[in-house]
Amino acid sequence: MSMRELVVLGTASQAPTRQRNHNGYLLRWDDEVILFDPGEGSQRQMLHTGITATDLTRICVTHFHGDHCLGLPGMIQRLSLDRVPRPVAVHFPAGGAEYFARLRHASSFYETAELAVEPIDADRQRITLGIGTLEARRLRHPIETYGYRLVEPDGCRMLPERLAAYGIAGPDTGRLLRDGHLDRDGRRVTRDEVSVVRPGQRFAFVMDTGLCDGVYALAEHADLLVIESTFLESEAALAAEVGHLTAGQAARVAAESGVRTLVLTHFSQRYADPRRFHDEAREHFSGDLVVAEDLQTVQVPPRRVPSPG
Ligand SMILES: [Zn+2]
Repeated sequence: MSMRELVVLGTASQAPTRQRNHNGYLLRWDDEVILFDPGEGSQRQMLHTGITATDLTRICVTHFHGDHCLGLPGMIQRLSLDRVPRPVAVHFPAGGAEYFARLRHASSFYETAELAVEPIDADRQRITLGIGTLEARRLRHPIETYGYRLVEPDGCRMLPERLAAYGIAGPDTGRLLRDGHLDRDGRRVTRDEVSVVRPGQRFAFVMDTGLCDGVYALAEHADLLVIESTFLESEAALAAEVGHLTAGQAARVAAESGVRTLVLTHFSQRYADPRRFHDEAREHFSGDLVVAEDLQTVQVPPRRVPSPG
């Protein structure tokens, strides 16, 4: 069974609190372990999760405000300390390359780990992974910011009873899957006749932004959406001014985009009671709703039910 889950390292925005570390998120998705937006303290938070630096395959940074990247120096040095045996890909806004260069070499260390540095320099940039496509979308924030989504292509699941009805077995099944059809006893059997669509899964990660097209594009049909809700509606004007979302806005995006599991995070230190985020979001979104806590694990929900092919 492949593992697909989000592990939350931290949930605070600008300033950490006694309960909340700076931002940081790990996504386990089959053979990829992606670290998103490591803020300060992410390395130590990771110690509590059972995931190690050597497990990391990729790092994605949305933008270079401190709470989203000041954990990079420690993480990058840790990759070398632990002698990570393969290159680790790193994505970040190309306009912040100077910040990345400084963070990467913030202090002296013995560098052995290899980073595959692949900056994002265009909206809709796509990176092909073994598990699907990682796509970056431009967000609305005072500095260059990209959100990310992971899209697994739809697959196909063979139906044994239909295969049996056509007398197809063994290597013929593989041939039918590969070619899309199989000629048998003077009749052509197509793949659609003996299979159903296995819907691909989607994960979306939307950090610091005001409402914009990119938010909706990323959230579209996400099985799991991680989205910032720095503020509550009472601070909606302030949120718009500084390029952030409210819990109500994030929930409306999720509802309109067909999101299944909604994870709210990146909370302003001004709010002491997290239930307020839940209550506000619940007014707009009826699916699975998580107001993230540090070190919480959230499963990607099971696949949507396949539709007949
Ligand atoms: Zn920011």
